[in-house]
Amino acid sequence: MKPTVESSNLTRLSQGQLNILETCPRKFQHIYFDQLGTPISPEQQEHLAWGSRFHLLMQQRELGLPVESIIEEDIQLQQWVTALVNEFPEVFTKDDKTFREPEHCRTFKFKNYLLTVIYDLLIEGEKSAQILDWKTYAQPKNSHWLAKDWQTRLYLYILTETSDYLPEEISMTYWFVKSQPRPQSLTFTYDRRQHEKTQQDLSKLLNQLTGWLQRYESDRIPFPQVPVSANRCLECSFAVRCQRIGETGTNSSQLVPNLADIEEVSL
Ligand code: SF4
Repeated sequence: MKPTVESSNLTRLSQGQLNILETCPRKFQHIYFDQLGTPISPEQQEHLAWGSRFHLLMQQRELGLPVESIIEEDIQLQQWVTALVNEFPEVFTKDDKTFREPEHCRTFKFKNYLLTVIYDLLIEGEKSAQILDWKTYAQPKNSHWLAKDWQTRLYLYILTETSDYLPEEISMTYWFVKSQPRPQSLTFTYDRRQHEKTQQDLSKLLNQLTGWLQRYESDRIPFPQVPVSANRCLECSFAVRCQRIGETGTNSSQLVPNLADIEEVSL
């Protein structure tokens, strides 16, 4: 999805776009401004399709809508949902003291950007709020890595900024529905210090983006590339285009890079 420029001149950004921007600004340019697609393997396509069906099923279920047509296509889906509900019944028990909404969307204006999040499920109580996110990969990723991911940081940040809850009253839980032998969860709590750090990092990243955008649109100066030493290029589908790997697969990082041509970004 290309970042959308709203009529009010705001650019809409998601957590996924922030992750790519932080990983490598040139990659962000290639995908969202040059609109160069990244190839997806059949396995990845299947995984994405399965994830979409699972999210739809959980949304329908939460809203009390029929799920039969979704389950008919994939009976295993129902087994994962049943395992999840059986393992954590407290999460799925509704009461009239909490507000619950699946696929809850929020936006927040930050500088010239409209930051957008979609919570798989938001549960708001009198004194606390939980963001729930379904993950359809089997094993929990390293929790430190996930804590730094913009999904965790942006989701918590925006809820704090758009509600009356204190940061300490908000948490985010990832549910790894395919973990074996049973589903697992990983919860991140939040506090004022993390909130301020996220604000600073967002401000820095979006100031950089504004500068890169202006230079790209006015003078066609490309966005900076991630340093070769970060070792992110060999896995990237733009490695040949970026001259970080030869057409034949030769790693150009083994050659002396032309530093005059490569404007690197400190991460
Ligand atoms: S090859 Fe490297 S520099 Fe080019 S877009 Fe990918 S990560 Fe960035």
